[in-house]
Formats: sequence, C-alpha cells, structure tokens
Amino acid sequence: MNFYKTITTIISIIMFNGVVQVQASETNAGQNSKNKPNLIVILTDDQGYKDVGFNGSTDIKTPFIDVIANEGTIFTNGYVTFPVCGPSRAGLLTGRYQGRFGFTSNPSPAPDADVGLPSSEKTIAEVLKPAGYTSGILGKWHMGGHADYHPNNRGFDYFFGFVEGGHRYFPEELTITDFSEVTKWSGWYYTKLMRNQERIETTEYLTDELSNEAVKFIEREKDNPFFLFVSYNAPHAPLQATEKYLNRYKHIKDKKRQTYAAMVSAVDDGVGEILKTLEKQGIDDNTIVFFLSDNGGPETKNASDNGELREGKGSLFEGGVRVPFAMRWPEKIPQGQVYTNAVSSLDILATIVGQADVDTSKNKPLDGVDLTPYLTGENDGLPHDALYWRHLRKDGQAVIANHNKMINLKNKKFLYDVANDVGETESLGSDNDTYKELNAGYQEWLKEMKPTAFVTLLEYKKIWLKQQKSKKNKNKKTKP
Ligand code: CA
Repeated sequence: MNFYKTITTIISIIMFNGVVQVQASETNAGQNSKNKPNLIVILTDDQGYKDVGFNGSTDIKTPFIDVIANEGTIFTNGYVTFPVCGPSRAGLLTGRYQGRFGFTSNPSPAPDADVGLPSSEKTIAEVLKPAGYTSGILGKWHMGGHADYHPNNRGFDYFFGFVEGGHRYFPEELTITDFSEVTKWSGWYYTKLMRNQERIETTEYLTDELSNEAVKFIEREKDNPFFLFVSYNAPHAPLQATEKYLNRYKHIKDKKRQTYAAMVSAVDDGVGEILKTLEKQGIDDNTIVFFLSDNGGPETKNASDNGELREGKGSLFEGGVRVPFAMRWPEKIPQGQVYTNAVSSLDILATIVGQADVDTSKNKPLDGVDLTPYLTGENDGLPHDALYWRHLRKDGQAVIANHNKMINLKNKKFLYDVANDVGETESLGSDNDTYKELNAGYQEWLKEMKPTAFVTLLEYKKIWLKQQKSKKNKNKKTKP
C-alpha cells in the first residue's frame, strides 16, 4: 500500500452462505493505485496447441513464452469459445458467450454500421475504465470495420493495428489507405496500419512493429493501472517471415513449417521484450500476463501442430477450441504450476474484475470466473460446471463438463472422456446417462443464445463476388 496517497477504505458487509464477512476494499480509482494489477493479454492467431515449448514442441523454441508458463501456470485444458477468430475474440473481450449477442461467425470486413461488437456489450477496456485503467490494443481488432466499432470507441485509449481479420506482414505491401480502395478479395490485408484513427506508414515486419509498440505502451503507462491487449495476427496466414527469424529454422526442410516456426519465433522475441520491460519498470510482480491462441491451428493451411488433439481451426473437436494457454502473476500465483481443470478465455475478464475490485453489478452477468482462488489453492473445485460451444453453420453443439465432452454435429452424436481419450478417438455413444445429462444441460444453455446478428464473412463474399461481376459487365457495356 502506498501510504503517501490518500486511500479511501470502505468496509462492506457481505452475507455469504449465511456467514457475515467483513471485507475492506480500496476505492482509489484515478489515483494510479499500485495495488490494482495490470493486465496484459498476449493473443496469437491460429497457433497450434503443441507449438509452444511448454506444451512439448520439439522443433519450435519459445523460451520467452515459456517464462510465462514456468513462472506461472500452464493450463493444459484451456479453451476458447469458438474455433475461429472473430467469435473467439468477442467472447474473450466481453467475458460472455458471444452467442448471447449474435456474434456467431467471422463478421464481414466491410465498414458496415450493422456489423460489429454491439454497444450493448462491454469490452474489458470499457469495464476497467471506471476503475482508473488505461487500455491499449495492438494488432488485430476484428470487432467491426465501421467507425462506431473502432477500438477508440470501445474503451481503448490507444490503438495501433488494423480493424479487419487478417493482414500482410511486410511494410512495403501495405499500400492502400482505406477499405474503399480494395479491388480484390482479401485486399484489406494490404491496408496501412492505423494509430488511433490515423493511417500511418510503417517500416518494420508487422510482428516486430506490434512488439515495439507494446514496449512503448508499458513504458508510457507504467504509473497507471493498465490493460494491454497484444493481439498478434501471427502465425495466421499469409506465411511471411524475415530472414532474422527464418535463419533460426534453416534445419526445418518443410518451407511452410519453417516459415510458421519463424513467425512464432518473432512473437516469442516480442514476449521477451514485454517481460523485460515489465521487469525494468519494476512492475512485473503486479502484472497479470495471459498468453493464449484465439483458436486451434489450421494444420494444413499454416503448418501448425495441434499435437494429439483431433482436428483444428473451425472444429468443435479439441484441436479447434483447446489452445496453448498460460498465465503469470508473480505477486499472487505460485510458479511452475500445471492446472488441468478446464478454464476458458472467458475467465480473463472475470479474473481482472475480481482482482481489481471493479464493480460490475450494473453490467450483464459474466460467463467467466476469477481464476485466482483456483490457482492459489483457496478453491479446489472446478472453475466451471460446464463450458459450451455452438457452431451454427456446421449445426454443431458441444459441451464439456469435468472430463466428459458431448458433441452433436448435424445428426451425429459423440461422447468422449477427454481425460482418458485426449484425441477423441472412441465415442462412448449417446445411449447413456452421461450423454443425456450433458445434452439436456446444453439445450437449456442454448435457449439463451441469439441468432446471427450481422452479415458474416462468407455471406459478404457472395455479395462481393456479385458486385464485382456486375461491375465487370457494366464496364463491358460502356466500352465502345
Ligand atoms: Ca484465429
């Protein structure tokens, strides 16, 4: 506690299980409390479960990412809420199942006022603002291309990156300044980066740019409680890396895997810079750092490796939704812990809210839980009775409770014991009490989910192709 600052202490009495607890909480928002932990979320894009040292990668070295795991907790069963980028990020950012607000699919990249994270939902940055936090996001946003959804309008004080779902990595390729200049499908991958609302020129490999920005943000904000979302798009396609990182993996003969490894290595260097900066600024003890991927690796597309897990990106099997996941918070959670109960990206918001004493009583209820008591040993129960997934386009449903996982895919029904069958190789069938119980619980949860609320990426692709065709025909007609 900083005795040189005025701190108001409120004594509140809470009834809990019939026991009266007296709780002292400090309400010193705006006074740059040293007590409130900083939060850094390092999110990679399409990284395979096994592609970190702490999950057993043998060919890709991630010494700095491994520091987060070794000096904190490895979550062996860490899940995201959807097996592709957009919905997974919407769940992480709001701490709520994205189906509650119809964010069921990757959104259209076009700047459409109806496509994005609805204002009825609060992002981590919006939730933390009243508690005196400064927030920054670096890299991929993917929560809507229209100005209304811009990170600066969604609680983030600082934005450096791109608003769409993917991007090219080399600065010389970033040549267009606005979505309206896009002339080919995925052409928005070539837009210049934005600093807040402004298009800027950059000179470095994108992953390095984002890492440099992370260091600068921490240096600037070291005296405030802050939330920094380092939203790398690596190692999402296109597979592009610089010689500096490729040279580390000359021995990998498969070109795709070599480039992918180099991209992960660039992220790892960035993580190293972030950790070094925290230490240098004397704030590493009270900074919570989460590391995770937004979905499983699309193994054939980017040469990622999900290890033993079945399938990958896009799938409700473990390879799609179970991701490399670790957390470090030297001040509170023990080092070198391996936690095997299921946790979720939904828990990130709930954890910081719980630990920073943020009042969310007026907000919509969170689906995540504060992980801290589970990691300090205070609570030895399961953080979640169940975790749920819905994949509308695939007519897919999944739920995991303890180690039992039910999956429905159209008319196919599966039940796995993922503790004993991590690769989901042998379904235990649907004609048993476990399946029936899981399915019944799932159908109740489903009633709370909403239909798709916007034009999806795939729907937009059809619209786009039609537009291009009619443009072409028009040009033909107008030619003499
Ligand atoms: Ca992704």
